[in-house]
Amino acid sequence: MTPCAAAVARDVRSGRASAESVLRAVLRKARARKDLGAFVRLLEDQALAQARAVDAKRGRGETLGRLAGVPVAVKDNMLVRGVETTAGSRLLQGHVASYDAAAVERLLAEDAVIIGHTNMDEFAMGSSTENSAFGPARNPWAPARVPGGSSGGSAAAVAAGLCPLALGSDTGGSIRQPAAFCGVVGLKPSYGRVSRRGLIAFASSLDQIGPLARTVEDAALALSVIAGADPGDSTCSAMPVPDYLQDLGTGVKGLRVGLPREYLAAGLDPEVEAAVRAAVEALRVLGAEVREVSLPHTRYAVSSYYILAPAEASSNLARFDGVRYGRRSPAARSLAELYELSRGEGFGPEVKRRVMLGTYVLSAGYYDAYYAKAQRARTLIKADFAAAFQGVDVLAAPVAPTAAFALGEKSADPVAMYLSDVYTIPSSMAGNASLSVPCGLTKGGLPIGLQLIADSFCEGTLLRAAAALEAAVPFPGLPEADRA
Ligand code: GLN
Repeated sequence: MTPCAAAVARDVRSGRASAESVLRAVLRKARARKDLGAFVRLLEDQALAQARAVDAKRGRGETLGRLAGVPVAVKDNMLVRGVETTAGSRLLQGHVASYDAAAVERLLAEDAVIIGHTNMDEFAMGSSTENSAFGPARNPWAPARVPGGSSGGSAAAVAAGLCPLALGSDTGGSIRQPAAFCGVVGLKPSYGRVSRRGLIAFASSLDQIGPLARTVEDAALALSVIAGADPGDSTCSAMPVPDYLQDLGTGVKGLRVGLPREYLAAGLDPEVEAAVRAAVEALRVLGAEVREVSLPHTRYAVSSYYILAPAEASSNLARFDGVRYGRRSPAARSLAELYELSRGEGFGPEVKRRVMLGTYVLSAGYYDAYYAKAQRARTLIKADFAAAFQGVDVLAAPVAPTAAFALGEKSADPVAMYLSDVYTIPSSMAGNASLSVPCGLTKGGLPIGLQLIADSFCEGTLLRAAAALEAAVPFPGLPEADRA
């Protein structure tokens, strides 16, 4: 079984295992599970060179970094220098990154090994990884079901033991929802906690990079590495990065946990609700004080997100014009045709839908009615959280209304797909910190996640609560046989 990241780093640092042997073992598994569609490209040669460099560093007696020899997969929207990086899009085919994303740089600086790019919904638009130009990824717990999205490849890879750690990005739920569907831990840091330099932008006021891991400790370790100020991203905060590992084991005695009434309402699958309530009860037994709270503007979150996120996307994606990045239509005979054909041929249907929606809501005459109004709703949603965090330290909620759905089940109905983010979008809109931690299985054997939400820059509190739950409600993980 693939050991967790903390164990790999310990073993490689102490010389009990070589980075190269760890890497060879995970590459074997990744190659054997191509059926999952978790990776869009494995970087075997480059990863092997990195692993050997880590082993050589140890051989010279140098101290190794915090992720020594840990194989890490990164979502296909994070630039890796010298490597094709395509955000799951046909439009970016052939786009070779000229620099490493800040998060990738930091992983490498701590002696991690980047093993490949994971599958994702095109430009991170989706909740199932079905909107990928590379074909869908599958849920390792039930291959006829989706792994969630848009970081579905990262979640599937970690759940199937194809790597101990992966990075994803979350704009409205894209780390937490796939983590829940695949039974792994997924953390969306506060807006500004992790640099987004080198992340292919979707909606810049919402996008955050975060880890997907099998244990809370690994998520804390990864966050400690990737968080912190970056002069190359002006939205990245200079707040000092605490040692997220230090307080992990301190328990939840006296922790005030709020249960938002609006999240446990109609539309929530009864099995998910039961698992969430049982997890909250487990926290109470451990000494947390549980009370009900209200986030009254929750019902405006999805509709305002689907104005703001497409608006920002329409602007961010304007740079993909067939001139500078990726694919250029060979059929174009004029500049206008070059734009039209390159974009028309390159973008998939969901991206086109968002670009059109976004352009419309920003257009003169509609801006106030849609975009400005959605911004005001966002302010109210933020204020709801601020008020709730006056009285509680964390909020506990479902991640998604159901467990993993079947491939194809929602792909013809965008609104049904959008509604699978109803519980994750509000925290993105508020910019606070949230995570998904496994809390049980449905009768059919599908993972269920508990979402914990804390105020901005309170990731430590979140991780501590998640660690307590993880210890109290042990989660089975995938059977050995399924790990190939
Ligand atoms: N599913 C949401 C969307 O399609 C969120 C995606 C994300 O967080 N990147 O926009």
